[in-house]
Amino acid sequence: MYRKHYRKTAPKLSAEQARTFDRISEASAAEINAAIAERAASGLYPACNCQPYQDVFTYDRWSAQGCYVRKGEKSLARLVSYAEVKGEDGKEVVKRIPHPYWVFCRCQITVKEGVTITPTEVIAAPAPLPIPAPVEQVEAEPEPVAVPIRIGKRFAVLEV
Ligand SMILES: [Zn+2]
Repeated sequence: MYRKHYRKTAPKLSAEQARTFDRISEASAAEINAAIAERAASGLYPACNCQPYQDVFTYDRWSAQGCYVRKGEKSLARLVSYAEVKGEDGKEVVKRIPHPYWVFCRCQITVKEGVTITPTEVIAAPAPLPIPAPVEQVEAEPEPVAVPIRIGKRFAVLEV
């Protein structure tokens, strides 16, 4: 029901608006990075180096930028935003209403014919978030292992 209502009343985004965010959530960025790592570990888009808020958008935001999410693509992650309802004083938040949304990364899209994509400028970009290494039970003294770690757009190799 909500979706129907939303579809009817939500104004169509311009390409620029589709790349603009009022707020950058570090929690959402961390969820996206974790989802990319998890998906890569499963063998799907292992080379994906997409960045939250820069290469990761909802279906509607991609569409507004002249891109299709390819048929059959599964959303990278399900995220939740909260609409805040304020009390009578207009300041205190009395209720937070969750709105789930689904995002897709740049690896999952096709640019519509004749469209030139403008690279996203992220104004309030969060610092790159480290992806936690999987916890493993090690009994013997482990041999040093080279572990690739992701720092922003680059990969580095960490000796542990
Ligand atoms: Zn990607």
